Amino acid sequence: MVITFPHMGKVYISVKALFDDLRVRTVIPPPISKKTLEIGTKLSPEMACLPLKINMGNYIEAIKEGADTIVLTGSCGPCRFGYYGVVEKDILKDLGYDIEVVILDAPKTGHLNFINNIKKISGYSSIPDLAKAFRAAYKVTLEVDKLIDLLLYKRARETRVGEADRCLASFERMARQVHGSSQILDLTEQFMERASNIREERGFKPLTIGLVGEIYTLIEPYVNLNIESKLGRLGVEVHRGITLTDWIKTHLSLDMKYRQERKTMLAKAEPYLNLCIGGHAWETIASTIDFYEKGLDGIIQVLPFGCMPEIVAESIMPTIGTDLQIPIMTLSVDELTGEAGYMTRLEAFVDLLKQKKGKVI
Ligand code: SF4
Repeated sequence: MVITFPHMGKVYISVKALFDDLRVRTVIPPPISKKTLEIGTKLSPEMACLPLKINMGNYIEAIKEGADTIVLTGSCGPCRFGYYGVVEKDILKDLGYDIEVVILDAPKTGHLNFINNIKKISGYSSIPDLAKAFRAAYKVTLEVDKLIDLLLYKRARETRVGEADRCLASFERMARQVHGSSQILDLTEQFMERASNIREERGFKPLTIGLVGEIYTLIEPYVNLNIESKLGRLGVEVHRGITLTDWIKTHLSLDMKYRQERKTMLAKAEPYLNLCIGGHAWETIASTIDFYEKGLDGIIQVLPFGCMPEIVAESIMPTIGTDLQIPIMTLSVDELTGEAGYMTRLEAFVDLLKQKKGKVI
């Protein structure tokens, strides 16, 4: 069995750590590229969500490199994500690929099914080995998220432009080469130190922007056209509305403290939205209000074109902007999004925030 899985930001680092520890062979799909998107777009229904198209491209590229089993997460929520696994499986079957697709639905939707699937993809490892590997992979996720957060902070203040980006790129390159959670954790520690040493412009007070929106678009730089880097280079400190750690804590962990905090956080959305309508629309509204309360200068919502839950959130955003007097911009991305126009919109938004704060443009 050679496992592959779709890309979503830095997920591959934690998944690689997990399977390395379980001694299961994996093929990490090549980094998402124009070619990945072209393959996925050709094979997917035209109106499918952008993440599904990219997943398809990832699978085909990974199959070419020897993968024979695909692992992906499932959902029974109200949006199209619930159909991803089955649709992707059918597309591959129609194309004639002899490939096993394992859909990991959240444990709460059927513990037995979840455990059986985990056993299957873990090469029937023992329960203690499984628990150890999952704990280690979770630690990797936490540490990688901490590194990303530190780089978001540094990028806005770095004296040598591009240093934070170079640090992240080297980390990712090396993370693909090392083996197992302990080596990845050591590497993360080394890069935390390297990131801490990035020199900052003294006394510089950056603008602050909160990124909210659909999770895949938010955490996958290829899809959001590297928005964190672009804003950082414009001197903006970016705050992330959702991270991989959040996703794991919400869906897989029994961390009661986190659950209570999440409940309190979601309650902030109540005047505008008080239920889950799929995707991360509820979080989008709640995080927007949370960022306002934390005093951030502006909010950017990013969504894949046609994402149903985020379109609902988008329709609520202008009301929040008016009620709270906070600038909000929405960016919808698809396979046709052009970089130049996207960059112009970011620059214009940052200029607007600077003017609002009385900064010289
Ligand atoms: S959240 Fe949006 S992009 Fe993701 S599957 Fe649902 S509708 Fe598609």
